[in-house]
Amino acid sequence: MPKIHSSLLVLAALAFLHPAMAATVIDNANGYTLNGKNTLVRFQAMAFDYEGRIIAVGTSQQVLAKAPKARRIDMQGKTVIPGLIDAHGHIFGLGDMLNKLDLTGSASLPAALKAAADYARAHPAHAWLRGGGWNQEIWKLGRFPTAAELDSAVADRPVWLARVDGHAGWANTRALELAGITKDTPDPDGGKIMRDASGNATGVLIDAAMDLVGKVQPKQTDAEMRVVLDRALQHIASMGLTSVHDAGVRIDQDALYREYAGLAKLSTRVYGMIGGVGADFDLLSKKGPLTSYAGDLYALRAVKLYADGALGSRGAALLAPYSDESKSTGLLFNKPADMAAMMEKAMARGYQVNVHAIGDAGNRQVLDGYQELVPKTGSLGARHRIEHAQVVAPDDIKRFKAIGIVPSMQPTHATSDMNMAEQRVGSQRIRGAYAWRSFLRQGLPIACGSDFPVESANPFYGIHAAVTRQDSAGQPAGGWYGNEAMTLKEAFRCFTLDAAYAGHQEKVLGSLEKGKWADFTVIDRDLFTMPAKDIHAVGVLQTWVAGRQVFDKK
Ligand SMILES: [Zn+2]
Repeated sequence: MPKIHSSLLVLAALAFLHPAMAATVIDNANGYTLNGKNTLVRFQAMAFDYEGRIIAVGTSQQVLAKAPKARRIDMQGKTVIPGLIDAHGHIFGLGDMLNKLDLTGSASLPAALKAAADYARAHPAHAWLRGGGWNQEIWKLGRFPTAAELDSAVADRPVWLARVDGHAGWANTRALELAGITKDTPDPDGGKIMRDASGNATGVLIDAAMDLVGKVQPKQTDAEMRVVLDRALQHIASMGLTSVHDAGVRIDQDALYREYAGLAKLSTRVYGMIGGVGADFDLLSKKGPLTSYAGDLYALRAVKLYADGALGSRGAALLAPYSDESKSTGLLFNKPADMAAMMEKAMARGYQVNVHAIGDAGNRQVLDGYQELVPKTGSLGARHRIEHAQVVAPDDIKRFKAIGIVPSMQPTHATSDMNMAEQRVGSQRIRGAYAWRSFLRQGLPIACGSDFPVESANPFYGIHAAVTRQDSAGQPAGGWYGNEAMTLKEAFRCFTLDAAYAGHQEKVLGSLEKGKWADFTVIDRDLFTMPAKDIHAVGVLQTWVAGRQVFDKK
């Protein structure tokens, strides 16, 4: 804490001593932003003060008149847009994924062993080394690799690497020791320990036997969490995102977010949803919602709950059986009364409630809960959300508007799921699936996101999917249920102002206007004149948060 204050004081003093350095103008930009009247406006220049607040936006002449002594940065005609917001992502999950040892490209056992050794050297803070993607078929080994071979790369720490299909894991000797696997360990039901002629485990564990190692892996250490967070933040900045709504924050992650925000090390703004209403919530909610911290770098004023599972695994709860499995309707995670009790607990303490609901039965259960509880708790102003709102009974779409619920949707889910989704729910129910236009027609905002790392964090994939409902190869022609597509302006709004609205931040984020934070992204082509089919290929050149550059492609 003291560090924040002193660094701000230093900045303030510098600004005072060197008025010329106090403000910055980006000039000669091909700028676009929505304004308060929902009009897309152009600008050439923008000035912001030393804290990163916008002073003026307009033509060069207008802006330079407002900040005559400012440091001037020539954007050389490049396109500048407001920083994009991902309203649903998993920051630590992304960092974990990016940070694991990835052996999918390894062509031989020696190459994989070298990669493991390099990875160990690059991650001295990791107590366990984890990864996967290996395939002994590609290595033409004719057998599984062994613990002894893995020891030749890394012997000092446990290593655990999943096979490419996830049905086997490769451990080194240290990992086998920690799991207590000896000659006398029996094969568990549904699993197999690979052994040599005398019965000793050789290093590969199959299916249920993988749990023997899985269950002794410790929680991530603080040092590991920092490496993972740094990796995720770097990636997010490179994607042109300036704010992420983290859909499930644990108490230890909250502590790290606060620390990073306080030290201005949080290079993307984080709007946190506490994962569940259990022990972490009880502790974190003692002082009530954190509406803003460290210049809006961090907030923790929402709770994430789950109504059901996912469509691909048929875990999403449907009102009628799956079209491709007539005996199953999926599964609601909670009885209605239990779900309502969790929602009410969060609402009563002043939190926004964001419930994951994929199937039409999941969505209905949550809408029923909101319908009863929003008036009862007087919490309309909390802007409660349904995360995904993926398959919704057509009659229920109106209820979002009637009850005041914000749909939080991920356009790339539609283009990734299109074939599978229609098999699961059939040709009728699919009309209420990923139904963006139907929601927009109600006059609802849609908070757009990606659900990374389930999908790529790249927001231009999202805008492309929202506008075309096609994959990157332009399939299918006309878009998948193209009548539900968004216009470019709508998609842009859903990734900026509407996402900000869903985080109670539309007064400070989401557009480039006087008084808001100078969060902006510089891209390599003009989003508003280019062919829609190419939007997925937009490249990010620079990302700025609160007037500070956090990514430079150079
Ligand atoms: Zn998610």
